[in-house]
Amino acid sequence: MSSGGTLILPRFVAGGENGADGVQSKWHDRFAETPDVLKGPGHEQTIVPVLDIEIGGDEFVTMAGPCSVETEFQLMATAHHVRRAGARILRGGAFKPRSSPYSFQGLGLEGLKMLAHARQETGLAIVTEAMSECDVPLVADYADILQIGSRSMENYSLLEAAARTGKPILLKRGMVATIEDFLRAAQVVLDNGNANVILCERGIRTFDTALRNTFDAAAIALLKQISHLPVIADPSHACGHREMVPPLSRIAVAAGADGLIVEVHPNPDKAWSDAEQTLSFAEFDDMMASLDPYIALRAAQIPALNRARAMESVG
Ligand code: PEP
Ligand code: MN
Repeated sequence: MSSGGTLILPRFVAGGENGADGVQSKWHDRFAETPDVLKGPGHEQTIVPVLDIEIGGDEFVTMAGPCSVETEFQLMATAHHVRRAGARILRGGAFKPRSSPYSFQGLGLEGLKMLAHARQETGLAIVTEAMSECDVPLVADYADILQIGSRSMENYSLLEAAARTGKPILLKRGMVATIEDFLRAAQVVLDNGNANVILCERGIRTFDTALRNTFDAAAIALLKQISHLPVIADPSHACGHREMVPPLSRIAVAAGADGLIVEVHPNPDKAWSDAEQTLSFAEFDDMMASLDPYIALRAAQIPALNRARAMESVG
């Protein structure tokens, strides 16, 4: 996409390619059931505050950590490492939705306590999943962001309970969810009094089985045009292979994402879950370094966007 010869990331196209009126007429008809998640005049971007971090704002925010919380050592080593490499938020599942019922299901409360300890030691904010309505109050006592997993995206009673905690919600796209289904789930959270929703594209199921899922970069670009909610990408679950995580991360920044959530482990081959898609510390460092020019391009466009907004509010 270009404008006057300048390369533009989708995040910075205020109101979409057709301007705010185009968004109004086209997407508001198409997504009539989810009016509150769409951009509108005076509501271009929601910024979700998490401790001292702003998601959806000027900073590109990386969340990183193991798929599952396993041991104090594993979590603490990962937390310190990803913080040094530039991550702001620690991920780690204590309640694990697994494709197989016989796989490790998570440490539960013990895992939540380890996450809280890691926050205390490193200052990183914590994102972790609540799988059931009953677990929501407990998870909300420990987490800074409640993750709703792909398998739960349409569990509206879970969404309602999570929304009512007032904690920011990281809503992962269901693996067979259309964009419309995804926005509908976000609308449920908004309808329950919680405006702090972060949308996460994590790959969908298609006919192609070469990778774990099909990474829908177009969904990121589209969501950035039509919705005011922050959008992040999960390249780990999208591809299922660690060597594909860095290129998908770069695609996510170029598509306009506001951040990433990535799986990292001190000894990925020995991870208790999702070993194949998990980065080592060195691989995470290399990925972060490779993102720098993309993030710099994104940052370079912020003054232009702010100027455009200032002009709009004057004119
Ligand atoms: C996870 O983040 O560990 C996870 C299970 O993700 P998803 O819900 O996207 O499969
Ligand atoms: Mn995982």
